[in-house]
Amino acid sequence: MNELWNDLAGTFHPESSLDYLPEKQRLVIQTQRLHAIVLRAYDRVELFRRRMDERGVKPADIKDIKDIHLLPFSEKSDLRDTYPYGLFASPMSEIVRLHASSGTTGKPIVVGYTKQDMEVWRNVMKRTFLSANLHRGDIIQNAFGYGLFTGGLGAHYGAEALGATVIPTSGGNTERQIMVLRDFGVTAICATPSYFIHLVEVAEKSGIDLRDLPLRTGIFGAEPWTNEMRRYIEGKTGIRAYDIYGLSEIIGPGVGAECSCQDGLHIFEDHFIPEIVDPVTGEPLPDGEEGELVLSTLSKEAMPILRYRTHDITCIIPEPCACGRTLRRIRRISRRSDDMFIVRGVNVYPSQIEAALLQVEHSLPHYQIILTRRSGLDQMEIRLEVTPQMLGDRISELEQLQQRCIKAIEDVIGLRVKISLVEPQTIPRSEGKAKRVIDNRNI
Ligand SMILES: [Zn+2]
Repeated sequence: MNELWNDLAGTFHPESSLDYLPEKQRLVIQTQRLHAIVLRAYDRVELFRRRMDERGVKPADIKDIKDIHLLPFSEKSDLRDTYPYGLFASPMSEIVRLHASSGTTGKPIVVGYTKQDMEVWRNVMKRTFLSANLHRGDIIQNAFGYGLFTGGLGAHYGAEALGATVIPTSGGNTERQIMVLRDFGVTAICATPSYFIHLVEVAEKSGIDLRDLPLRTGIFGAEPWTNEMRRYIEGKTGIRAYDIYGLSEIIGPGVGAECSCQDGLHIFEDHFIPEIVDPVTGEPLPDGEEGELVLSTLSKEAMPILRYRTHDITCIIPEPCACGRTLRRIRRISRRSDDMFIVRGVNVYPSQIEAALLQVEHSLPHYQIILTRRSGLDQMEIRLEVTPQMLGDRISELEQLQQRCIKAIEDVIGLRVKISLVEPQTIPRSEGKAKRVIDNRNI
């Protein structure tokens, strides 16, 4: 009987009632959970106990949510240094799932879940899908990678709990993805935005227009992407493209999600507390100010994580959302403090380049940024694929395109860069997160 709730398309589902709790009631839940998790972390995890002792902070000092600033930060390196199980607060006999991420350097990080953690994960992913107006009857193609990566299985269990039909295509095998998309009546797809764009291009080549299919919703995450990219995807395919947010260290996907307003991501605050801090000093910043997102888990049993530095740059949106959810929102993340690179003393984010390129007519968002150093001076080259139609065009038109791109980028970052137009499909496609920046300056 309960499942009937999931059949209704509309703005409010009883299943997502926690999203609409009066703030006072949520605060009671948060405070109770915070007390319990700080105690658990202190009692059971050596690293948290040592850090808190060093700061002279005891679990009893954390009386309400505001006191969270007293707690020490945690970092990705803490997970690496305690590899594999050093941050676990549950015995292995209670761990029912492990995931791991390889990261870019060195040892992977390992995360564990108890049965109760899996229940929480299912719940927040279910609420994620409900936020995007998906319900029972939807057919969801899940092209997030299945395996050690949390994306695939996280979305899978949430979609199943929703009562939707899940097709576990995982990432890759593009031809088969398109066959499934075309033949299986798929109404929603989960993927990284860059891989979805790749799918759209390959489908186009086979003469398939996504507008002719029942597909109406895209759930995109696992890499930062911009509003310009959203407009591009929605314009080309006729779907609504939703952003979701999560990270393995906290739970996987399911930390936050966009609602139908598509104006920031609601954080599931009954399970995760967001803070914004100055990325350099670590000082807390007020709502509305941009800084680094710091997250604390409130209900994770296997691996409580307190004040985790995400390196994602965003702000908490102070105004309430038109959808009626009382969960606070973060502005969508289009950059990470560690994505930033410095060219001739100027801080540049790949998302700035992407937004500039998308403003220039005809330029597809397949690009790569190559950094080199010549005679001690940084050189930045952007390789940009042109559309197949344009290759037949006159050289002068390609030159004009090049100039428009150079100008658009200069307007944003204040530097003139080199644009190399390259033939279609010459920039490697990723089946997961796109690699946008190749830094050859240290070679
Ligand atoms: Zn909303």
